[in-house]
Amino acid sequence: MSQFFKFFFVAGFLFWNISSNAQNEAYASPIKQEIADTTFVNLKDFSSDFVYDMKYATEDNFLKAKVYDCAECFLRLKTVQALIAANNDFKKKGFKIKLYDCYRPLSIQKKMWEIVSNPKYVADPKKGSIHNRGGAVDISLVDAAGKEVEMGTTFDFFGIEASHNYTELPKEVKANRKFLKKIMIKNGFNSFDSEWWHYNLKTGLKDKVANQKWDCN
Ligand SMILES: [Zn+2]
Repeated sequence: MSQFFKFFFVAGFLFWNISSNAQNEAYASPIKQEIADTTFVNLKDFSSDFVYDMKYATEDNFLKAKVYDCAECFLRLKTVQALIAANNDFKKKGFKIKLYDCYRPLSIQKKMWEIVSNPKYVADPKKGSIHNRGGAVDISLVDAAGKEVEMGTTFDFFGIEASHNYTELPKEVKANRKFLKKIMIKNGFNSFDSEWWHYNLKTGLKDKVANQKWDCN
């Protein structure tokens, strides 16, 4: 190869290399545009493996009022990631997470507190619930047939029977609660003694309280 052609060969190779790098860069950019893990996101944009029974988007709740405009599960990104990891563990055993409540605007927390002013069951809006911070979920499990697993009480049952410490329950119920708790704790959540359905993301306890309305479209 003459020096002349050698020059073009090397130059061409360099050009190809640079342009393909540029292409890789363009391709990688959506991944590189990482959002902060505290950003509020919609769970359904990240997974379609959850069952939804968002009680506050219906009248079937202790407020006896539909207080959410739509049945969406908004949470901070880190909560979504931990919840998906937990759901993957449940799926391996033939179950899925059923959601009752996720992020809850502070204004709704105030309405709840007016009806049930007992910190055992409803967080004082002055302090704010972890739900208001996008780090809490109210959940149960469904089996492969979509049937809800027996947990001993309904969601938002404000009584001792809903407590993790209550032992006067059938063996199966205690085992189901224990299973839920074990997997959730493994994936970064804390349980809440008086409500078997409530889980807080450990790293979400100090995030800011939010009162934003979500986009229902
Ligand atoms: Zn809760």
